[in-house]
Amino acid sequence: MPDTPPDTPPDTLGPTGVTADDIRARVGGLVAAHDPATTDPVEFLGHRFDAGLAWVHFPPGRGGLGAPRALQHVAEQELAAAGAPPPNNLRNPLGLGMAAPTIAVHGTDEQRTRLLRPLWTGAEVWCQLFSEPGAGSDLAGLATRAVRDGDAWIVTGQKVWTSFAHKARWAMLLARTDPDLPKHQGLTYFFVDMTLPGVEVRPLRQATGQAEFNEVFLTDVRVPDTMRVDEPGNGWAVSNTTLMNERVAIGAAEAPREAGAIGAVAALWRERPDLRTPGLHDRVVRAWVDAEVARLANERIRQQLAAGKPGPEGSAAKMSYARINQDTTRLWLELAAEEGLAYDDWEMRRIELGGTEGERAPGYYYLRAKGNSIEGGTTEILRGVIADRVLELPREPRNDTKLPWMEIPR
Ligand SMILES: Cc1cc2nc3c(=O)[nH]c(=O)nc-3n(C[C@H](O)[C@H](O)[C@H](O)COP(=O)(O)OP(=O)(O)OC[C@H]3O[C@@H](n4cnc5c(N)ncnc54)[C@H](O)[C@@H]3O)c2cc1C
Repeated sequence: MPDTPPDTPPDTLGPTGVTADDIRARVGGLVAAHDPATTDPVEFLGHRFDAGLAWVHFPPGRGGLGAPRALQHVAEQELAAAGAPPPNNLRNPLGLGMAAPTIAVHGTDEQRTRLLRPLWTGAEVWCQLFSEPGAGSDLAGLATRAVRDGDAWIVTGQKVWTSFAHKARWAMLLARTDPDLPKHQGLTYFFVDMTLPGVEVRPLRQATGQAEFNEVFLTDVRVPDTMRVDEPGNGWAVSNTTLMNERVAIGAAEAPREAGAIGAVAALWRERPDLRTPGLHDRVVRAWVDAEVARLANERIRQQLAAGKPGPEGSAAKMSYARINQDTTRLWLELAAEEGLAYDDWEMRRIELGGTEGERAPGYYYLRAKGNSIEGGTTEILRGVIADRVLELPREPRNDTKLPWMEIPR
């Protein structure tokens, strides 16, 4: 399984003597200069970035103050109390959840300067070019090639299941740069401008009717070396930073009590006494307790994250989120009966980012939840991570980690 991600370099973490009071004072200055009630939300997020209040532990000039990460919640609380718009996770989920921490830890100064501000405001959406038709769970087996050509790399290959590629300006790309090395060693990570010639995005339709993800064909795409991330051959370690953050982003997102499907189930249960059979009562209570336990466990994971970096516990959160969301959306559909099956539209639709699509019938959420146990690492793979890194059980035997990638039978 993946190596432990490298530590955050010293310039991205405090302490620089910044205190909670300093952060309160900065929030005061920000909202005095840009009234959240009258400033356009995207513009406000830009001002928030410039004030160092996007990610307080990032370096000054990069959306942060070099403050201890644990002080982020002070900024969030003060800004929420002032009526400021929150970061738009619905518009740029992969950017905020995965690209930003990867850029912070592994990016060059130029990359941080170019990429972080528009990522934070949502002006530039991100996607993740990792999975391939023959390399999903076995990500290190991927075949997309990047060959050095002067000050650039020529990238050729096919990616699949690329969420939001049709909206994305930038991609996190993992590509093979040395096929003669064992599969984990010959990989390099790049940030790729999706508007470059040779990038072709084709929609893939899901069970929901939506084409949220895509196939992406890369044909002789010339990626400048300045957009290489970390050293050539170090792509596996970099991708682990992305994947660890992905599991926390999917599984341990901050949520109030009764957020999501469990809120809808609880509301139906309260509003419709005619539905209350003893068997269903038991299931509703179990689902509620499961959701609340997961929510509180996620609080612990976020505290751990505030203290440093995401650990393998993020895999457990992602795995239990998938199970709970699938169980709860099934229960919601059962409670809503025929009404829940009234599906709005079976035409293929490209997803709009930013939460503009509104609420849908439970049937949509039931179908979408099927992907939860696949996206961001399948449940089977996450069980392997937990067995290996949390429970420290013996690893699965593998015979393909020492062979040059070229010699692995395919
Ligand atoms: C909604 C959705 C969005 C996605 N978005 C993106 C995206 O934006 N970017 C991106 O790069 N990818 C994305 N993916 C792809 C996702 O990461 C892969 O589908 C996933 O990693 C599984 O890979 P695979 O589909 O190739 O399945 P496979 O790896 O072929 O697995 C098939 C089955 O075999 C099991 N299996 C495989 N290896 C083992 C093992 N060693 N032990 C036990 N069981 C095993 C798996 O668990 C699974 O059940 C998305 C997927 C979904 C569903």
